[in-house]
Amino acid sequence: MAPRTIDLRSDTVTRPDAAMRAAMAGAEVGDDVLDHDPTMAALEERIAAMLGYEAGLWVPSGTMGNTIALMMHLQRGDSFLAPEHAHVLGSELGTAAWLAQGMPQVLPHDAGPGRPTPAAVAAASGAGPYYTLHPRLLCLENSHNFAGGSVFDAEEWNALLKAGRDAGLLVHLDGARVWNAAVALGVPVSELTRGADTVQVCLSKGLGAPVGSMLVSDTARIGEARRIRKMLGGGVRQGGVLAAAGLVALDNIDSLAGDHANARLLADGLRERGWTVEPPETNIVLARSGVSVADLAELGIAAVTVTGKTRFVTHRDVCRADIEEALGRL
Ligand SMILES: *Cc1c(COP(=O)(O)O)cnc(C)c1O
Repeated sequence: MAPRTIDLRSDTVTRPDAAMRAAMAGAEVGDDVLDHDPTMAALEERIAAMLGYEAGLWVPSGTMGNTIALMMHLQRGDSFLAPEHAHVLGSELGTAAWLAQGMPQVLPHDAGPGRPTPAAVAAASGAGPYYTLHPRLLCLENSHNFAGGSVFDAEEWNALLKAGRDAGLLVHLDGARVWNAAVALGVPVSELTRGADTVQVCLSKGLGAPVGSMLVSDTARIGEARRIRKMLGGGVRQGGVLAAAGLVALDNIDSLAGDHANARLLADGLRERGWTVEPPETNIVLARSGVSVADLAELGIAAVTVTGKTRFVTHRDVCRADIEEALGRL
């Protein structure tokens, strides 16, 4: 018999638990396109306040949240700066270019994994002659997915914001996993989100919602974002059923610490077994060995390859015993 699969491909594989399904079933709802669904409105207000912004807009996915933000910020002839391997660069089908009309400019990880220095931002945003691109937007990612869930702290965030502002740039934070960053650093999430023009956060990753992200900004921009969401086909009707899952997901933030502990356990175990492992800062482990993803699948361990390394992601549907079991199979 094939062993039970321990799924470490992503923290998006979690299934809504009984409490979340009950909240969804019992949600108060309205037509969010015609009016404003009350549960959607409650979730938007709550997350905007948590992140330090005036207003929020629920969106079906992180990709749509990022796309709407970039569509608001960019126009033809503009460039946007993002750290190498950012999700907006390589994992969103080039929407930043063909929908938002921005030309990407890649920033180095010269401050550490996933982290550009303020000097790199300054160097990449200088103005040139009329035929050169207008650098318009700095797009940061915390935690940085493909750099192994790496984190930058509030001091670094503020220094990067300042470098962006000094260069006349707008700033968007792709905070798909900023909850993980806040838990890892032991700070309120607002310390890592405040001060940008727009922030996108996911509810469907470590927090366990089946669907949903949030874009936050000032009230005027969120009004415009609501129009663009409709343009992209992202307006939903009785969205309260989905927003209710998001409200329950917010209760799961503290439990991310357990995912981080499991990631460290996995990293230590892999190292003992001869793998080359980067120390995990959150719930993502990047590692290398002669063992391929296909070999792992034979052992009932599901992982993926990113940037030439094997990526394991811990999440609320795997426990410590599952990690020990996976290490045992190796
Ligand atoms: C997952 C992810 C997204 C996109 O979220 P989806 O809901 O899958 O569209 C954006 N940015 C980062 C850093 C992510 O990890």
